[in-house]
Amino acid sequence: MEEKTEEEKTEDYLFKIVLVGDSAVGKSNLLARFARDEFYPNSKSTIGVEFQTQKMEINGKEIKAQIWDTAGQERFRAVTSAYYRGAVGALLVYDISRRQTFDSIGRWLNELHTHSDMNVVTILVGNKSDLKDARDVATSEGKSLAEAQGLFFIETSALDSSNVTNAFQTVVKEIYNILSRKVM
Ligand code: GDP
Repeated sequence: MEEKTEEEKTEDYLFKIVLVGDSAVGKSNLLARFARDEFYPNSKSTIGVEFQTQKMEINGKEIKAQIWDTAGQERFRAVTSAYYRGAVGALLVYDISRRQTFDSIGRWLNELHTHSDMNVVTILVGNKSDLKDARDVATSEGKSLAEAQGLFFIETSALDSSNVTNAFQTVVKEIYNILSRKVM
């Protein structure tokens, strides 16, 4: 088997992915869990946009996912258009224990479509699945909304790590697949 040359090894992709959703649904903690395997029980978001780059491997290709976190911007005003610019993937997050965050999803989806490409690969994420006793949105409701809007769907817990990697990977894999089909 031939060894890859140094050039082939470093050939990679950079995908911009944005986290979107109401304040305190767990966006920062999903990113912290995914990128650093950390969790903050009382996290207080800092103000200003931040992103973190995470390397992943899909079909032997190194992919860099540049994941953007609103870092609390959404509490004060709408997220700026610069935040969405160039995004090829999005995680649309609500909190399964707070229905109002699920009700906001339509608004976030509109905003995403206003500021980014219509084809942005999007997954609807019901976070805090560990809060079973406080559940306010049924899994079937999330699923139905995702189906109606043509989105992927998953329930996650940044607290107990459930499905967090899966959520990000689903988006990255789909972007990669779309790109591969275009190239061929
Ligand atoms: P953001 O404003 O959307 O970025 O939300 P944060 O990541 O700052 O989280 C808001 C609060 O929810 C914090 O107190 C977190 O510790 C908590 N939180 C985040 N994810 C989870 C989760 O999966 N389960 C539980 N029980 N709490 C979570």
